[in-house]
Amino acid sequence: MALTIDPGLCPQNHRCPLIQICPVGAISQEGFSLPKIDPGLCIECGKCMKHCGRQAIYKSERDG
Ligand code: SF4
Repeated sequence: MALTIDPGLCPQNHRCPLIQICPVGAISQEGFSLPKIDPGLCIECGKCMKHCGRQAIYKSERDG
């Protein structure tokens, strides 16, 4: 299981507010590009899924 950010839902026009919300610093973003979730750091707490205003984060069955 891994968390994925849907590029069709994420508007990619602002600093991702979830970077601050993630308790383990697993979310990174270059500029306003699509944020990345590091699967090695993510503990799948679900906070980012709850806080994303566009519901752009979802759980996928496999990595990649
Ligand atoms: S599920 Fe939790 S640990 Fe994983 S990226 Fe989202 S906020 Fe961070």
